Amino acid sequence: AKRQLRKLKDVSAVTTDGTDVVLAANIALPDDLVDVHRVGASGIGLFRTEFLYLNREDLPGEEEQFLAYQKIFRSMRGKSVVIRTADLGGDKMLSRESMALLRNAPVEESNPALGLRGIRFSFAYPELLTTQLRAILRAGAGAVVNILLPLVTSPVEVRRFREILEEVRASLEAEEAKLPEAVNVGGMVEVPAAVAVLRDLIPVLDFFSLGTNDLVQYTLAVDRTNAAVSDYYEECHPAVLRLIAETIRRVTGAGKSVSVCGEMAGRTDLTEFFLGLGCRVLSMDASRIPSVKNRVLQIDSEDATDFSRGILHRRSAESVRRALTERETRFQ
Ligand code: PEP
Ligand code: MG
Repeated sequence: AKRQLRKLKDVSAVTTDGTDVVLAANIALPDDLVDVHRVGASGIGLFRTEFLYLNREDLPGEEEQFLAYQKIFRSMRGKSVVIRTADLGGDKMLSRESMALLRNAPVEESNPALGLRGIRFSFAYPELLTTQLRAILRAGAGAVVNILLPLVTSPVEVRRFREILEEVRASLEAEEAKLPEAVNVGGMVEVPAAVAVLRDLIPVLDFFSLGTNDLVQYTLAVDRTNAAVSDYYEECHPAVLRLIAETIRRVTGAGKSVSVCGEMAGRTDLTEFFLGLGCRVLSMDASRIPSVKNRVLQIDSEDATDFSRGILHRRSAESVRRALTERETRFQ
């Protein structure tokens, strides 16, 4: 079976009725590119850049980051690359030594998941954000650059980010640096607040990505790192599925792109559900791409629409899971 999946590397992900699906890869470090090419991913759907900052006692400078981002653009040869600004804080803390290099570093937080993380962390340390943006824009010279913001909860944050981005762009221009052909700014939908204010986020963002790992955590009030409540960390909870459905419906309805990039995107038992909702981009660990592609090749879009409607009517996670299991008999 493994060998058969490997044969899918150069096959496009298309449903039985001819709908193209983008299967992109999530990466943490440039070294992950090996796996990305091995499975023939359509692009990088999520580069978790915070990993450049972790497991060290200093901070990555502009040049180091520039080289890392450049490696990715070059290696992907024009395929889509989505770079997320450092999602530090929460479960991805800088080392004590690295924190000490920052001005006004916070004392220990008692509730880091609700604390200074994601885009908030970047705003708290603008020098980190500015350095990262300079590196990204320089590395993406002549290319289309897609920048993704983690933990967005309001259009105010997006506007604030765009102001900083514009300052960085202008200063690079003044230095006569070569700039990207285009810069798109996307937002992660991973806090229920973002779903509630989608009407206001859609006009200020170029694309969206559903971060299901955090969406589950923040919707169900379950710490994703706490084993004591892991039974409550339920991806199939109707609240989670309905928030995902609403996001896909509203964003695609506005003519913008929305991907799913959390762990759920790599689950073959959910592929038909996502396609049925109208999602056409799934980003996952590269190792999951062959299996998900194999599933896409067996899905009919109209059947998927009906199936996802049925799932959204289920009233418990258990009922959803039962429906997913029953559905498996249709596929190989
Ligand atoms: C997510 O929250 O689903 C996500 C993709 O981001 P991370 O897992 O890095 O928080
Ligand atoms: Mg997240």
